[in-house]
Amino acid sequence: MELPVCEICAYTNNLCKNCKDKFKSGKINEIDIELSRILYSLAKHKNMDDVIVKRTINVDGLVVILVDSNPGILIGKQGRTIKRISQELGYKIRVINNKKNHKDQLSDLFWPIPILGVNDVFTLNEEYIKVRLPRNYAKRLPFSLDTLHQAASRLLDKKVKVIFE
Ligand SMILES: [Zn+2]
Repeated sequence: MELPVCEICAYTNNLCKNCKDKFKSGKINEIDIELSRILYSLAKHKNMDDVIVKRTINVDGLVVILVDSNPGILIGKQGRTIKRISQELGYKIRVINNKKNHKDQLSDLFWPIPILGVNDVFTLNEEYIKVRLPRNYAKRLPFSLDTLHQAASRLLDKKVKVIFE
C-alpha cells in the first residue's frame, strides 16, 4: 500500500518529521492524513496491498482520490468499501485512475452523465478545456456545477469550462 503519509503515521495519531514537513509545505493536507488512517485500518480486514494513492482533491463536499492502482479495490463489491470510506471521512468520494487520459478521468468524475466531447480551446487571451454535456442532464448533476468545475480544473491542472448543448 502506498499512502500520502508513511506507514507509521497511518497507524498512530502523530506525524513523523517527514510527514509533518510534507503537511507544512502543503504537499499533503488533513484529508490525506485522515484518508491514510482510514485505509490503513481497513487493510486489517481487506487486502489493500496493491492500493497506491497519489493525491486527493478536496472541493466542497467532494473528495477525489487519485490512484495509480485499480480503482476497484477502493470501490469494493457493490461499492461497499467506498461507502465505508465515505462515511468515515465524512465526504462524498470519487476514485479516479491517475493513469487514464483526461477524457476518461472526466468521464469518471462526471459519471453517470455521458460526456459528449472534450476539446482544448485556445483563444488570444486564454486556454481552457471545454467539456460538453447533454443539456437534458443539466438538472441531474452528481454534484453542483461549481464543484464539478473546480474538481475538473484541479484534476487536469487547467481551466475547465462546462457547457450544455
Ligand atoms: Zn510519517
